[in-house]
Amino acid sequence: MQVALCQLPLTLAMTAVALAAPGGWPGLFESGVCRAAFALLLALLMACLLVPWQRFGPYAPLAIPVLDLAAICLVRSGSVEGLPDLGILAVLPVLWVTASRLSGPAILSISFFGPLLTGLPWLLNGGSTPDRIAAAVLLPFITLAVAIALRVTRQQLTGRLTTQLHAGCERERLLNDEVSGLIDALAAKDDVLSTVSHEFRTPLTSIIGNLDLALSDSEHLSAQALRRLEVAQRNAERLLALVSDLLMSANSAVHVHPLRTDLASLVEASLGSAHAHAQASQVTLSMEVPAPLWAHVDPLRISQALDNLISNAIKYSPNGGNVRVSASTEGDRVLLHVEDDGLGMTATDAERVFTRFFRSPAVRDGSIPGAGLGLSITKAIVERHGGSISCNTLLGSGSTFTLELPAKGTAPAYSQPAFP
Ligand code: ADP
Repeated sequence: MQVALCQLPLTLAMTAVALAAPGGWPGLFESGVCRAAFALLLALLMACLLVPWQRFGPYAPLAIPVLDLAAICLVRSGSVEGLPDLGILAVLPVLWVTASRLSGPAILSISFFGPLLTGLPWLLNGGSTPDRIAAAVLLPFITLAVAIALRVTRQQLTGRLTTQLHAGCERERLLNDEVSGLIDALAAKDDVLSTVSHEFRTPLTSIIGNLDLALSDSEHLSAQALRRLEVAQRNAERLLALVSDLLMSANSAVHVHPLRTDLASLVEASLGSAHAHAQASQVTLSMEVPAPLWAHVDPLRISQALDNLISNAIKYSPNGGNVRVSASTEGDRVLLHVEDDGLGMTATDAERVFTRFFRSPAVRDGSIPGAGLGLSITKAIVERHGGSISCNTLLGSGSTFTLELPAKGTAPAYSQPAFP
């Protein structure tokens, strides 16, 4: 098709000549040489369309422009009465040859000698008057000039493209280096997090165990020592929760073992354990979940997710308020909503709320503690169940986090990374 496209301009020009012939040059088709020229052009067009050129290498199609020059030579030598010299059409095959991969000297030779040779029979048949000799000599110089101009432009373009290509390759290489550096850094960060959290957990568990023992034997302790031990116990437990979150977020896989579970009892248990925190923050807890509410979930993991959402709802309601957990069903999905009327967030913050280590600027500047890990872990847990989590929030009015979980069925495979 490309070969046929290259042949198209000359074919169109000669078709126009043939169409104009009956009115303009009635003798055109009476000349046997001209008929032979048109027959040759028709044969060349058919060859362009029918020959599988790709089989014969990149230079084979160049036979067509060379034979075009022969056809032009025939038309010119026909010397039909009133027909202007069609030698200028030689520019078209010359353009084709110039655009090919032939060497520079070969291109320039064909561009000059091809058109020159088309003029010889024309001069011999029609008479060698000075103006015809001048025309025959001028034409090869014109086609040579066209070929040189085209080659120079092509070389400039190729140079520019090569420079851009090199710049593009260099950019790609740098980007690859940066991306692999970033991936290595992320992996190293996860390694450090995982090791440090693991190393912290063992002494912390021992501290909490000993504090529990000391507090269980509290009748020998003064009121002040008791208070101090309780503060130490609370903070050690907070530290252990943080270390557990860090450890979990550094491990790329969250394993879930789903089974038929009553969500209502999980919500009740989570609200029960948040009771003291809520009371201290003057937050009223309420629950509107029909019991039993069956779902196909891992009870431990979903309790962890609920604990996170409920403790956030209390934590981010610093002036007290109401936290409500409700439920609904949609087809084979169960929806759990954890709603508060606390601080809320801006739309921009809400978009990033499930990203690891994200804390909204308002919260970061304040005194509410946190590491920005709870929601990313919650999201990973819910997604491992084949569910989803969403956040609907308005700054100053409160937030609602909705968990969508499968009522029945199978949970997806564990193999994908939980924290992309
Ligand atoms: P943490 O609470 O430890 O900072 P989370 O991942 O649980 O980490 O939450 C990430 C951030 O999302 C919080 O720092 C807070 O800015 C925002 N956020 C989460 N829950 C709420 C909520 N109920 N109300 C307002 N902001 C919230």
